[in-house]
This record gives sequence, C-alpha cells and structure tokens, in this order.
Amino acid sequence: MSTTSDRRCTATVIGGGPAGLMAAEVLAGAGCEVTVHDHMASVGRKLLLAGRGGLNITHSEPTDEMLERYGPARARLESAVRRWPASALRAWCSDLGEPTFVGSSGRVFPKSFRATPLLRAWLARLTAAGVTFETRHRFVGFGSSPTAVQLDTPTGRREVTTDVVVLALGGASWPRVGSDGAWVPLLRAADVRVSSLRPANCGWCVAWRPDWLARHEGAPVKNVRLSLDGAAVRGDVVITRAGVEGGPVYALAAAVRDTIERDGSCTVSVDLSPDLTEAQLAGRIARARPGDSTSSVLRRAGLSTEAAALVRELGGRQLPTAPADLALLVKRLPLVTTATMPIDRAISTAGGVGLDEVDDRFMLRRLPGVFLAGEMLDWEAPTGGYLLQASFSTAVAAAEGALAWLAERQADREATSGRASHG
Ligand SMILES: Cc1cc2nc3c(=O)[nH]c(=O)nc-3n(C[C@H](O)[C@H](O)[C@H](O)COP(=O)(O)OP(=O)(O)OC[C@H]3O[C@@H](n4cnc5c(N)ncnc54)[C@H](O)[C@@H]3O)c2cc1C
Repeated sequence: MSTTSDRRCTATVIGGGPAGLMAAEVLAGAGCEVTVHDHMASVGRKLLLAGRGGLNITHSEPTDEMLERYGPARARLESAVRRWPASALRAWCSDLGEPTFVGSSGRVFPKSFRATPLLRAWLARLTAAGVTFETRHRFVGFGSSPTAVQLDTPTGRREVTTDVVVLALGGASWPRVGSDGAWVPLLRAADVRVSSLRPANCGWCVAWRPDWLARHEGAPVKNVRLSLDGAAVRGDVVITRAGVEGGPVYALAAAVRDTIERDGSCTVSVDLSPDLTEAQLAGRIARARPGDSTSSVLRRAGLSTEAAALVRELGGRQLPTAPADLALLVKRLPLVTTATMPIDRAISTAGGVGLDEVDDRFMLRRLPGVFLAGEMLDWEAPTGGYLLQASFSTAVAAAEGALAWLAERQADREATSGRASHG
C-alpha cells in the first residue's frame, strides 16, 4: 500500500507478542514498511511460555459459543473474532508448517504441542516480508504528533514518526517475559482511560494449616466441582503452598476476584463427590463399619485420600458423624479465600484500555493513527485458547483498520488536491 503515489506507508508496531506480530504481518502484507519494537532482547517470549503448557491456540466450538466466553466485552470483540475466527487461526498455523488438532476437551493445539517451531517459522516469514525488528526498544510515551512515539533504545532516547502506530503491549502477568504493564501511566497521561490491571486465570490463596500443608503440598484433588453464585466448574485442583491452582480454579478466578474486591473474602463450595447425589453418598457413608475413622469412612464412600484430607482440613474442628450431615459437608465443603494470586503469577490480565476508548477499527479516539490490539485492551476470557484467539483477531482488526484509515486519508487528500487543481 502507498500513502501517496510514490511512497510506501510506514508503520510502527510496539510489542512483539502474538498481537504485535500479527499486526505487522497484515500491514507488511499490504505493502507497508513495518518496524516492530520490543523492549526485550527477543520477541514472542510469552508465546513461548504458553508453549510450555502445550500451546492451546484456540478452541473448536462454534464462533457464537466462543463469543460468549468474552462476557461483557463480547459486543466489542464480535466483529474482530468473526472476521478472523478459529478456522482462520488454524489455517494460518498450518500455513506456517504447524498443523493443529482438536483435543478431547475441544481445545485446539499445534500437533507439535510447542510454540518454538511456530514462532521460528513466523519470524522467518515476517523477515522475508520486509518487517524490521528493533529489540531493546522501550516505548516511553507519545511524541510531538499523534503517530510519533518516544522510544528508549540502547543508544539513547529517540522519537519515531510513521503514518500509523499499532500498540500491542500486552497485560501485566509474568512480567519477566516482557509485558510489565508499565505502559498504563503513559496512556493515562495521554488522557486514555485505562482500568487497573488485575489478575485473571489465576490461583487463589488459602490459609492452610502448616502441618497439613507439609503433608499435602503439590497433591492433586481429582474430579471435584467448584461452585460460586450459580456457576459450577469441574476438574482437578492442585494444593499449593499459597492456596489452590488448576483448571476449575482459573475458570472461577474472575468471579472470585470480583467477590473478594466487593466483600473482602469469598467462599467457594467444593463438591468432592460430583458423580453421586447427596442421598447416594449418605447411603454409602451409612455402610461404614463400626469404629472406622472418618477418613476411612470417606474413602470407603469413594473419596480419594486427598479429598478425604481436604474434608478434615476445611470441615471444621468437629466433623459430623451422621451420614446425611457428612454427605452434605462433602458435597458442599466451604473453601474460603481472601486473595487471588498476584498478577505476576496469573495466566492473563483483566483491565486495560477501555474498549470505548477505541473505535470500531481499534483506533484510539484521542490519538488518530494509533491502533491497539491484544491483551492490553480491557477484555478477559477463561483459558481454553480464547486469550490467543482474541489477541490475534484484534490484531488483524487493528491492522486492517489502520490500512482502511490510511486509504481514507489518501482519498481525502486526492479529492482536496483534485478540487484545488480544478479551482
Ligand atoms: C504461563 C502462561 C500460559 C499461557 N497459555 C496460554 C494458552 O495456552 N492459550 C492462550 O490462549 N493463552 C495463553 N496464555 C495467554 C497468552 O500468552 C496471552 O494472552 C498473549 O500472549 C497476549 O498477547 P499480546 O500480544 O497481547 O501480549 P504479549 O504476548 O504479552 O506481548 C506484549 C509484548 O509487548 C512488549 N512490551 C511491553 N511493554 C513494552 C514497552 N513499554 N515497550 C516495548 N515493548 C513492550 C513485551 O515485551 C511483549 O513482547 C498464557 C499466558 C501465560 C502467562
């Protein structure tokens, strides 16, 4: 693409995560001269970290269902996700030599289960398309015009001005891989509304008794159902030094976080025997032999050693002995937490630039020519591939938005010069 008949458009992308790299790909594909700046020594570090867990790149469910995972942000993300849905992401992976498959839970992974080969192939393709990478370049603020950015570089501070800017600076989880959230005050200084960055998809802190923890730290409690305010999630929970981790814990983390923020603490109900009704469980408990300890009773009723231990830890000083009461406790064990894990240990970030700060093209209303993409925008979603999907989809939307905006400006200029030459 050219901004005038004889000059290629220029684009600055800041942030070399999935969103920034995808924006660079779309812009370079349209003929723009693109430079990606990142303050780390290399790009894509969080993508590589995600690859350690198998890289759940998207989800196979229909787009309508996927959109529900973005909660209140659904309406603002919808057109981006429909324009570049899971099928596009999977085709893109295959094109890079990393075909994907659908796991038993419907989650989509590259067959290699790794991010390294995907990132390597991607960077080679971007380089071949003419994208320039400037690492150890930190964005420190805006410059003298909306599309001028200030960068701290190994050779000092410099201002870079291009036709368009895409910011894809990520959230604030796992800051050691690059996304440290230090951009928040910079955007606020430019009058952009940014809500505080908070942990999402994270563990919760639980005050275990030290002697109990010494025996159970690291133990998985399998097949439990966690419930909070009508939402229920099933899966395995892991006991950690600080509290609990695991799929169902992450899935309820946003609701737990919001409850703690409102009430100071949150009580989640744990069902340690989700396959049995209360009456069935009480029946099994009633068959206990006289003199059996409560742990033996629970294990005979089908609970694992770890689940029975959790009943002893959370069930209060005096456990009930009547089968119906004990069954009720096992089905609704109260787990109290007063804090989620800190953001630097979370998988993702809630908060960020308000979605009403950007227009339908993901351009900042206050800074024409500056487009935003990825996790720095204020949306959140559970694990399941939804985080990467929205990061990629918003990047495609922001880059296409930038191209459309440039084309409109060029058309306006041509119309103005046409009028001038005829006038
Ligand atoms: C342990 C872990 C596992 C995960 N697993 C999955 C998964 O399996 N599936 C999934 O969907 N999601 C997963 N995620 C989440 C996913 O990795 C992120 O949602 C995604 O990387 C966000 O992409 P992004 O480009 O918006 O931001 P990021 O990937 O965070 O990239 C932002 C980039 O901006 C750079 N940057 C930040 N500030 C500046 C600055 N001031 N100047 C210059 N550069 C800057 C950073 O160095 C970084 O390279 C996981 C996350 C973690 C932590």
